[in-house]
Amino acid sequence: MSNLLPDRDIANCPSEHAMPPVLESTPARTESLGQLTIRRSLPIARRRTVGPWCFFDRYGPLTFSEGKPMDVAPHPHIGLQTVSWLTEGEVLHRDSLGFEQLVRAGGLNLMTSGRGIAHSEETPAQPSGRLSGVQLWIALPEGARDSAPRFDHYAEVPRLDLRGGVVKVFAGEMDGVSSPARVYSPLVGAEIRMGAGQELTVPLEPDFEHALVFLDGEATVDREILGPEALHFLGCGRSELSIGSTSASTAILIGGLPLGEPIVMWWNFVARSHEEIAVAREAWERGERFGEVNDYRGPRLAAPPLRARAKPNPAS
Ligand code: MN
Repeated sequence: MSNLLPDRDIANCPSEHAMPPVLESTPARTESLGQLTIRRSLPIARRRTVGPWCFFDRYGPLTFSEGKPMDVAPHPHIGLQTVSWLTEGEVLHRDSLGFEQLVRAGGLNLMTSGRGIAHSEETPAQPSGRLSGVQLWIALPEGARDSAPRFDHYAEVPRLDLRGGVVKVFAGEMDGVSSPARVYSPLVGAEIRMGAGQELTVPLEPDFEHALVFLDGEATVDREILGPEALHFLGCGRSELSIGSTSASTAILIGGLPLGEPIVMWWNFVARSHEEIAVAREAWERGERFGEVNDYRGPRLAAPPLRARAKPNPAS
């Protein structure tokens, strides 16, 4: 998915120092991605990162009988991993390495841009007619961000059947269960599914900062009701999290060690400086560095204009 931030100037996104447990809820904002309406929980005004996670888009749930609700033409990425995790439906990924991979609910598409890759994401020709999912970005640490690009698909991820709910660990490790996904700094990403009126306790790594986003339903944490369409930032220092579902719910838990490196995000790029962004943008516009995405029907995306550095991101 593209993740376009065309109206924003370059924003500095410093990883914050570890902080104690908090519960800070911030509404997601609504953005358009072609025909698709998405809710963006990261970056938001009060929070740019959660561990190395620097982007959180949710799309759906929706049903359709024709057309392609998701249709994101080829576009470039640098300095990040994209994590595509669906709870319903399917998305077809194509990239400039030649990978073509359908991801379905419960599976994982993980694209590691390293120094540069291009991809498209679209509803396939024979869709189920449902679509619901998230796209998350992980900022790559200094030692990995200039690496060769790669793409990995996992048809399924490890699952924890706990009293009160089911956890699917799509990135990192929880309770002795490890995702096979290759990541480059200590982190966790998991889907938590609960029935109505259930109590679930999941172990957390106290050195990580964590956040929860409910895709459906709501639940109680620290005696507060946490609803959907918001980032519920949990801070650091928690060794477990107890969740009480007031309705059937699905949530995404993200966490990790704060990256400890200031990052700069613009359009689909995660970098360290304005200059790196400008160089990557220029390469994309010239048709260099990122390669070609074959078999996508239609033109690729043009980069938005790069305004002079200066104006801080209005959302920051
Ligand atoms: Mn993308």
